[in-house]
Amino acid sequence: MFRATSIHTGQDVDAEDLWSMEPVDPDGFVCPDCGSKVYPTSYRPENLRRAHFAAKPKCPPWCPSNGEAELLKRARAESLSAQDGSFPGYMPAGFRLPAETAPADGAPGASTTEGEGKGRRAPATPPEQGARQRARITTSFRDICRAYLNFPNDRHRDLHFLDLYGTTYDEVIWRLRTRQEQLIRYPIPHLFHGPIGWRAPEVTDEYALIEMDVKEWHDGKPGRPYQVKVPWSDWSQRQRNALLREVETASNEAKELKKAGSKDRSLLFFVGQQDKSDDATFVVTERKLICCLTGFDGRPVASRTRRKA
Ligand SMILES: [Zn+2]
Repeated sequence: MFRATSIHTGQDVDAEDLWSMEPVDPDGFVCPDCGSKVYPTSYRPENLRRAHFAAKPKCPPWCPSNGEAELLKRARAESLSAQDGSFPGYMPAGFRLPAETAPADGAPGASTTEGEGKGRRAPATPPEQGARQRARITTSFRDICRAYLNFPNDRHRDLHFLDLYGTTYDEVIWRLRTRQEQLIRYPIPHLFHGPIGWRAPEVTDEYALIEMDVKEWHDGKPGRPYQVKVPWSDWSQRQRNALLREVETASNEAKELKKAGSKDRSLLFFVGQQDKSDDATFVVTERKLICCLTGFDGRPVASRTRRKA
C-alpha cells in the first residue's frame, strides 16, 4: 500500500513521507479506504526496500485496496474511463500545496481529527455508499505522479495543477526530451519527468544537483545530460536526507530494473524551470514538488499503435 491515513492528523500520507517523519508512530495509520489498521514498513534508514504500508490482517473483502493489483494490471493495457465519465481507479483532478502542519504528520501528540486512534477499527460491513471516496483534489505531489504512471491510457482525464499550463494529465505532465544533438529550451516552468541517472547527486550546503538519464548525443556518443538543481539552504537536515534517500533508492531500483530487463523505469518527477543561462539545468524551488517513482512509463496503447503504422 502506497498511502495511508494518519490517525493523528486525519491526513493521507505517502509511504515515502515516512522517511522524513520523526518519530514514526507504528500504530498511527489506517487504510484510507476502509479504516483497517496498517503498519508502516521499510522506512528506517537501514532498510533497502522502498517504504510502504502493510495491512495485517488484510483489509475486509469489500475494501477497494484488495482489487488494486488487478485493476492496475488492466490499466496498463487499456483505458478504464467509462462512457459516462466514471472511473474505477484513483486519479485526482487537482493539486494544491499542503498547508504546513505542526507537529509533523504522524507525530504522537499531533491533534486528532479523526476518531481517537486507539479504538478505530475496520467496520465489519461496507459503509452504505461503498468505500470512502478519496479526495479529487490532492495535496500530495506523489499522488498525481503515481496516477499518471498507473493509468497510462487515461491521461486525457482532467488535471488542474497550481497555475501550470494544461487541463489534463497529458497536458500538464511532460516527458523530458532532447533533440538528438541538443537539449531543448522550455520557455515556461512545467511538471517534467524522466528517467533518473545512476550517478550519486552532487551535494553542497546550498543545493543538491541530480543527474537525469536524458542527454544529448553526438555521433553516437553521449553529451550533456539534463540535471535538476534543488536549492535547499532553508531545508532541515531531515528533509535533505529524505530527498537523498529517495534519489538513492530510485537510482538503485533503476539499476536493478535494467539488469532484470524490465520495462519499468525509475523516474524523477519535478516542477521546475530551466536556468536562463544553462539549458542543462532545471531549478526546483518548492520542496514538495519533487519525487521519484518507479513504474511503467509506457505510452498509451492508441499512440503506440499509431507509431507502428
Ligand atoms: Zn482497506
